[in-house]
Amino acid sequence: MKRLFFFIGVTCLSFSPIIHERQKVFDVHIHGSKDIADQLTTLEQAGVYRAAISTSWNLQNTYRTQSNINLLFGLMFPCPNGKVPYSLQPCYGDGRDWPALNWVERQIKEGKIDFLGEILSQYYGISSSDTSLHPYYKLAEKYGIPVGIHTGGAGPNHGSPNFRMELGNPLLVDQLLSLFPKLKIWIMHSGDQYYNETISVMQKSKLVYTDISVISNSEIVPSERFSNIIKSFIEAGLEDRLMFGTDNGDIDKVITAVKGLGFLSKEQKDKIFYQNAERFFASTEISK
Ligand SMILES: [Zn+2]
Repeated sequence: MKRLFFFIGVTCLSFSPIIHERQKVFDVHIHGSKDIADQLTTLEQAGVYRAAISTSWNLQNTYRTQSNINLLFGLMFPCPNGKVPYSLQPCYGDGRDWPALNWVERQIKEGKIDFLGEILSQYYGISSSDTSLHPYYKLAEKYGIPVGIHTGGAGPNHGSPNFRMELGNPLLVDQLLSLFPKLKIWIMHSGDQYYNETISVMQKSKLVYTDISVISNSEIVPSERFSNIIKSFIEAGLEDRLMFGTDNGDIDKVITAVKGLGFLSKEQKDKIFYQNAERFFASTEISK
């Protein structure tokens, strides 16, 4: 009986004194999951109120009705052999690599696409500024929706035979700045090992943003390196254009990683957690 009393006492103590304020999070980089309900619940419990998702078109459509999170929908292409890297699901029902341009425009007009991305040019074996992508970029520019381009490297077993490391260099984005001066460009994964190149492109145009997915995942990039990369972006004056993203990594660990950046103020962290992304995606809502 004494023991039981002691146990209850400790239990009460551990629950009562500190109530942590939940961080408000806009995760700009999520993909599909086998267990959608579990994925969305985990994100919601971590503080995610808004997220940008891209995955196979069929799987993506199943997300439209079942979320408390305000989801923004993307369009993955070009798809190597018609498939999403890693999961190898068909990107589109008909097995094609590229979505038809008039179909894309219709989806944008109907409010079913909020951004183009993840652009898989590196997996497909072409440059992110390849002319075959230009008609799509032109559409995105016309409707004021962002384009999110995969950069950096890749994990194992992506199943894309034409993947080339050098095609993950964000400097390839450079010529798009003059060709599409109003296009909102989002360099995904901060360029990873090419983060200095990301910085140089971002310094040329205020319409270029980046997300911190992958580099913030301590299972892929050591936390000290993550810290140094973010420091480089901050020193380059880019704190208003860094966006939080997990790429389906462990959301709690990624939030902890950002909170642990001791050289950032609470205000700077909030910019990364959601404020910058709200600004970047703002005209998406207006265009609907
Ligand atoms: Zn990616």
